[in-house]
Amino acid sequence: MTYELSYWERESFFKSIDVAVIGSGIVGLAAAIHLKTLDPKLHVAVLERGTLPVGASTRNAGFSCFGSMTELLDDLQQASEEQVLGVVEKRWAGLQRLRALVGDENLDFQMLGGYEMFTEEEESVFRQCEECMPEFNEKIGRITGWKEGYKVVDDRLARFGFRGVRHLILNQPEGQVNTGKMMSALLARAQAVGVRIFNGFALKSVEDSSQGVALHTEFGWSIHVPKALVCVNGFARQLMNMPEVKPARNQVLITQPIPGLRVEGCFHYDRGYFYFRNLDGRILLGGGRNLDMETEFTDQFGPNERIRQALVHLLENVICPGQSIPIDSWWTGIMGLGPVKKPIIERVFPNVTVAVRLSGMGVAIGTLVGQEGAEMVV
Ligand SMILES: Cc1cc2nc3c(=O)[nH]c(=O)nc-3n(C[C@H](O)[C@H](O)[C@H](O)COP(=O)(O)OP(=O)(O)OC[C@H]3O[C@@H](n4cnc5c(N)ncnc54)[C@H](O)[C@@H]3O)c2cc1C
Repeated sequence: MTYELSYWERESFFKSIDVAVIGSGIVGLAAAIHLKTLDPKLHVAVLERGTLPVGASTRNAGFSCFGSMTELLDDLQQASEEQVLGVVEKRWAGLQRLRALVGDENLDFQMLGGYEMFTEEEESVFRQCEECMPEFNEKIGRITGWKEGYKVVDDRLARFGFRGVRHLILNQPEGQVNTGKMMSALLARAQAVGVRIFNGFALKSVEDSSQGVALHTEFGWSIHVPKALVCVNGFARQLMNMPEVKPARNQVLITQPIPGLRVEGCFHYDRGYFYFRNLDGRILLGGGRNLDMETEFTDQFGPNERIRQALVHLLENVICPGQSIPIDSWWTGIMGLGPVKKPIIERVFPNVTVAVRLSGMGVAIGTLVGQEGAEMVV
């Protein structure tokens, strides 16, 4: 649908915007709130194409994780120890900022711990983790304040009732949030501090000039603002022509309530490619991108039957073995990945800044990334 903007619409709704934040995910909302904190007189508008934020922030698993052991060991193959610890530090700091901004009660924040599961075939990886554990506890403990953050808890396997899992490593300070409550609270907070939020505002392109930034919509009309902060994560390749951000889709399911559910906490399986948690007496389970990597490098929502079957298999054979579990519903979300786990917070044109590429860690790091993006704008 294309149409023109009326004089009334242009003058009353869009004329006085000082900073337009594109995207109302966790990063965009945290940025908009921070802009108002930095300068309460600023007119800040969030422009979001969806009815709700429609990317990753309302579709994730709600793990407030900052690094399982195999993930960090893997990261150390691609980046220096200083860089890897730097990311852990940002995730930890980001999480504290999220908790301070939204409040634990509004987040439904629970520190039930994050577990990494190891099968028989993964014995050597487990041994490697066990060997590095004292060093990890010392180095990561300096960031989190937890002396023995990581520990082997094989004795809990019987309690959870998994099949075919030989070892469990617990990361004690990891927690979980209720994603829906987190995003509702962030939206409410943004509105309370005077941020205007426009939904259904689908941008086609962003063009900077000496007169400011032209925001061209898919409806054929444009608005002009002095400054823009683009927080579109996995959609940055499409909107900003940024090849360094690779969109990646994730399949997620939630079961019907499971009577006598024994699983409690956040779990990573198969090097973190699969993840699940308890939620309202149900299991939320997602991942499996590694089974069809190329197809899942997309910014289009939609099912992948091969991966969905693998998720059901994992549910009924490993997590709740021997049970037929009714699925309540499925959905997909889009992440933004890169060669290294480092968000891009950068001024890309004189009046346009981006804060994108959150990988699978936006719950922990998103608030900080939004706030740093905001600081770059004013
Ligand atoms: C299934 C899944 C599970 C995950 N689980 C976890 C987890 O447990 N823990 C964790 O820390 N992280 C997790 N993540 C990652 C985390 O959700 C993201 O890192 C984080 O939400 C990114 O936030 P964001 O604000 O940068 O992006 P998004 O939430 O994607 O927000 C970007 C917004 O930009 C809007 N937008 C895009 N293009 C346009 C346009 N052209 N015009 C206007 N608006 C536009 C989109 O509609 C969207 O609302 C998961 C991600 C997925 C997909």
